[in-house]
Amino acid sequence: MRSDRGNLTSRLVAAGSAVLLGLAGAAIAADPASASGHHPTPGSAGLGDRLYPLLGNGGYDVQNYDLSVFYPKKDPAQQVRGNVTITAVATQSLSRFDLDFGGDGVGKVTVNGRPAAFSRSGDELIITPQRPLDNHRRFTVTVSGFTATPISPNANSPAGFVTTPDGTIMAGQPDQSHQLFPSNDHPRDLATYTITMTAPVGWTATANGQPIRTTQRGGYVTSTYREFHPMAAELIQLAVGDFVTVNRAPVNGIPIRDVVPRRLADKLLPEAADERNEVAWMESKVGRYPFERYGSLVIDGDLGFALETQTLSLYDTTWFSLPTVILNPVLTHELAHQWFGDSVAPWVWSDVWQNEGHATWYEVLYAYETGTLKEYAGVTTLDDYYKRAYANGDRWRARYGPVAYPLRSDSIWDVFNPNVYDGGALALFALRQKIGVRDFERLERAWVAKYRGRSASTQDFIALASRVSGQDLRSFLNDWLYGSKTPPMPGHPDWTTTAVSSSAVAPALHR
Ligand SMILES: [Zn+2]
Repeated sequence: MRSDRGNLTSRLVAAGSAVLLGLAGAAIAADPASASGHHPTPGSAGLGDRLYPLLGNGGYDVQNYDLSVFYPKKDPAQQVRGNVTITAVATQSLSRFDLDFGGDGVGKVTVNGRPAAFSRSGDELIITPQRPLDNHRRFTVTVSGFTATPISPNANSPAGFVTTPDGTIMAGQPDQSHQLFPSNDHPRDLATYTITMTAPVGWTATANGQPIRTTQRGGYVTSTYREFHPMAAELIQLAVGDFVTVNRAPVNGIPIRDVVPRRLADKLLPEAADERNEVAWMESKVGRYPFERYGSLVIDGDLGFALETQTLSLYDTTWFSLPTVILNPVLTHELAHQWFGDSVAPWVWSDVWQNEGHATWYEVLYAYETGTLKEYAGVTTLDDYYKRAYANGDRWRARYGPVAYPLRSDSIWDVFNPNVYDGGALALFALRQKIGVRDFERLERAWVAKYRGRSASTQDFIALASRVSGQDLRSFLNDWLYGSKTPPMPGHPDWTTTAVSSSAVAPALHR
C-alpha cells in the first residue's frame, strides 16, 4: 500500500485540535463532530491505531501523571498498590472517558475531586464523572488504591510489569505499561511524570528522569523522581528491588547513572562503561541529548530484548554476556532511541520503523566507525551490510508487510519485525544515497530538533526530508516505505533481492 489512511485521517483531525487548543503537539484525535460541538459524548475507547485499536483513549490529552506505587515487602512477585493523579485537557465535551488499565483492582476514582462512577471492560477503565467535562478544559482524575501483580516473563508474555530475581521492573513497549497503572497508553499522548515509589529499607527504587527526594519512615524508603520531558507511558521505568545505583562522570554535562542488581554490580558495571563514549558519539551525529540524564538498567534474566525506557535503557544479563564488540552497538541502538522513538515518538505504531530503522542505522554506523563491523555483522563496509539487507527486502515485505505498514499485530514480533529494523535502516540508506550524506545528516538533526518532545508520523518524515533536501521525495519514500517490492537502490543498480519463494528469513535480533 502507498498510504496509511488511518494515519492521515487522524492527523487531519489532530491538526484541528492542536489549533483549537494552542498546544505545541501531542493533541489527541477526537471525533470532529463532538470536538466542535458542545453536546457531551463518550471519549473513544482507543485512538484508532490500526495495529492496537484499543490502545490510548479519545477525548483528552494528558499533561502530567503523578504516580505513586507502594511495594509492601521485599518480594519481587508481590502485588503492589498505587495511586495516580492525571492532569489532562479535554479535546471534546466528555460525558465519560476511558483510561487503559489491566491491573488487578481499582479502589476509588475521583474527577476534579468528586467521586466518579467507574466500570471495567477488558483493559478499559471507564469513568463517568458526576458532571460532563467541557471541551478544552483542564481536569484531574485520581485513581486511588489500584493494584497490580507483576508477571514472570516468558515467551508468550515477554513484557510488561515483570519480576526479576532482584525485584520488579517495567518493559511496557508497546502496550503493557497499563498493566501496572491507569494511563493513556499510546505514544501519541506524551506527558510529564512524577513517580514516587515506597519500598522496604534495603531495597532501592529508580525511575525515569531526575531524582527529587528520598525520605525514610517506619521501615520504608520513599523515592521520588521527576521526568520533566514529555514521555509516552510505554517508556516508563520503575526499577524497585535489591539494586544499586552508581553514578558515572557526566558526558557533556549529562549525568550518567547505571542501575544493576547489587550482587552482580562488580561484573556488570565495567561492561556498561562504554555508554559514555556512545553518548558523545551520538551527540556528534544528531545534536544535544534530549533528556536530563542517561544510563543503563541491567536485570538478571533473559527477556529476549533490550528496551529504550526513557533516560534509563533496559538490558538483561544475556546481552551483557556478549563480547563488547556485540554489546556496544546494542547499547548504541538503545541510546539512539532516546532521540528516535522516545523524544520523537511515533504517531501510530505503524511508524515504529522511525524508531527501529534509525536505532539500527546508528547501531550499524557505530560498529562501522569503531572498526568492529566485521565482528558485529560479518561484513566490513556499510555498502556490504545494506547490500545483504537489500537481498532480503522482498522476502521481508512479503512476510511482514511494507516498512511503514506492518501487516499484523498478533504477536509483538509481527510489529517489531526485521523489516522495520534492517528494512527501516535500508530505507534510510536509500535516502542517503538519493540526497547525499550532507543533506541526510542535516535531515537527521532537523528531525530530532523539530519534533523534540512530540509525536510525528511517517508523512511528517517524508515532508521534512523533502524540505531539507529541496527535492520532492514523496514518490521515492512512499515506494520505499509503503511498497510491496523493494525499489531499486540509488547508486547500486546491480543490487538484487532474493526470490520471495524462499521461506528462510534471517532470525530477528530484538533490540
Ligand atoms: Zn530498538
